Amino acid sequence: MPAPPTILPAPVEPVALPAHAMACPQCGLHVELPALERGEEATCPRCDEHLVSIPHSPIDEPLAMAWTSLILLLLACSFPLLAIDVQGNQTQITLLESAETIYRRDFALLANVLLLCVLLLPAIFLLSTIYLFSGIRTGRRLPWMKPLGRLSVAIQPWMMVDVFLLGAIVSMIKMASLAQVGFGLSFWALLGFSLALTRTGSLVEAHWLHYRINLLHGIDPTQRPAEPCHGCQVCGFFSPASAGHCQYCHATLHARHPHSLQKTVALLATAIVLYLPANLYPIMLTESLGRTTPSTIVEGIFLLWEKGSYPIALIIFVASVFIPIVKMIALAALCLAASRPHRTRPLHLTRLYRIVDFIGRWSMVDVFVVIILVTLVRMGSLMSVHPGVAAVSFCGVVLATMLSAMSFDVRMLWDVQHPVSTGREHDEFD
Ligand SMILES: [Zn+2]
Ligand SMILES: [Zn+2]
Repeated sequence: MPAPPTILPAPVEPVALPAHAMACPQCGLHVELPALERGEEATCPRCDEHLVSIPHSPIDEPLAMAWTSLILLLLACSFPLLAIDVQGNQTQITLLESAETIYRRDFALLANVLLLCVLLLPAIFLLSTIYLFSGIRTGRRLPWMKPLGRLSVAIQPWMMVDVFLLGAIVSMIKMASLAQVGFGLSFWALLGFSLALTRTGSLVEAHWLHYRINLLHGIDPTQRPAEPCHGCQVCGFFSPASAGHCQYCHATLHARHPHSLQKTVALLATAIVLYLPANLYPIMLTESLGRTTPSTIVEGIFLLWEKGSYPIALIIFVASVFIPIVKMIALAALCLAASRPHRTRPLHLTRLYRIVDFIGRWSMVDVFVVIILVTLVRMGSLMSVHPGVAAVSFCGVVLATMLSAMSFDVRMLWDVQHPVSTGREHDEFD
């Protein structure tokens, strides 16, 4: 009689991330993390900031999503994006044509922003993701892994495929009353690319990525040094304060960013100065049957409202007027709060910062609308659209406010607290 089959217990997988201390990248708190399994997430107990999450398939999923995104990016560049038909005159544009046309009209800044934020930076991000995760998957220590790990996280806020996509939809609806417009194959590829890219971005997290890269180098970054140390704002691991740079990702180490407040205020002042020409000068000039009509941002919104395009008027109002103004006021309030004692809870201010940081890049939608319309509507005297000088100023406002928010060291908000609720004793070890 054959022996009954032996049922072996399922192999126990090692924990994805062992218990260790991590510095919150936002408020600087030293958090004792428990061991994390796949599918688990950790947040900061003081400021609610997302610290780290381990996907169910932490290596294969980012790799698969990065390859999918890259293929969709190639498809998005290969076919027409939008097509227009005005009285039998047909034009269709591709993504690269948009940049080329705007470059030929001497608006190099706008062309560069389009190329960088929609094509080049996402491509660099995807290629470095594939490179890093292929190395981790095969257990091979590849050159330049640490700087590429830092780069792939740093460029994420500058990728604006989703904003460009909204710009394409707004442009199409804007033109719908004047001409026959339709989406090309590339539009759908771009939609898929935007979704896949967002998912890839959410899977590439600095803390876990640098943990795995260091393991490949035979270093365990979860071991905290005994001497006084600083938490790295990039990877979250601790390095000796005397080292000057993070031992695990090689980022420069600061207890607080030097001159953070001054940099934030200087960039905010730049944004405020640029905001004036951005609103006073025309952002777009429409030429129709020999007549050129310039329109400022606000005039454009009123025109859309009068035509009954209420949702589009609302989108442009929120993106081009409401968000920049709210962002500039909020940044000024944050600078004020960081510079002197106050009674506002740091948690509320940190949440305000997070909103400012999140919404900033959506203001670029109007700039993308101008770029798309200039490329799409090129029918000589019958109908043409030209970029206005305000498009450059407004692009400057968006870039300056984004840089201003990035220069702001949120840890300052937790330093300057009402004496009763000070949390400094939990902060740095130094
Ligand atoms: Zn925190
Ligand atoms: Zn680091």
